[in-house]
Amino acid sequence: MPDFVITPPTLPSLPIVGSTQRFPIRRIYCVGRNYADHVREMGNDPARDKPIFFMKPADAIVLDGGSVPYPPATSDFHFEIELVLAISKGGKNIPAEQAHTHAFGVGVGIDLTRRDLQSEARKSGQPWESAKAFDHSTPCSALLSLNGKPLPSSGRISLAVNGITKQDADLSQMIWSAPEIIAQLSTLFELQPGDLIYTGTPAGVGPVVRGDQINGEINGIGQIRVSIC
Ligand code: MN
Repeated sequence: MPDFVITPPTLPSLPIVGSTQRFPIRRIYCVGRNYADHVREMGNDPARDKPIFFMKPADAIVLDGGSVPYPPATSDFHFEIELVLAISKGGKNIPAEQAHTHAFGVGVGIDLTRRDLQSEARKSGQPWESAKAFDHSTPCSALLSLNGKPLPSSGRISLAVNGITKQDADLSQMIWSAPEIIAQLSTLFELQPGDLIYTGTPAGVGPVVRGDQINGEINGIGQIRVSIC
């Protein structure tokens, strides 16, 4: 180990369902505009506006059961429930048919967003970091190992705030499927073990305030619960 001049940061990681081992996080990639009904509610046209990629820092992860401090510089703090893919084998130009062999497993994540800052950034052509890549912006459940099985292509994905359902859709509504996302992303970046991919959110996004309890779920995959403090 090198003689570091400061204490090295802790490596962010996620628990794994049914295991004492953990999944170390290298990068967090995210897909935007991957469900047509959400593309429309954001004022875009799914026929014209393709899914896009952006990133969040690995240390923005919040574990299941955790608290998310209401972030500064926003008055429109939104939830986005998303399927998360965890990469265990790297590669570039990965064919969609091979994508599942690069995945360790899947989880349930929330892509928290300062929507007012995102709207300003979109209008002025500015980058999205302030809107998306802030501290505590990326809750994720424990990961479910796939053990080589295919990536999920259907299943109810939903989110409730204080027990009231806000988002309710199916993974089959994704514009790019999970294998297609891995294939597309790996043409832009060489994927590496430890990468997470948030695969986009369906319609129904909306604001939360201090004291709210968010519960997200994907049938057969898991649950994520966080409170806003
Ligand atoms: Mn999102």
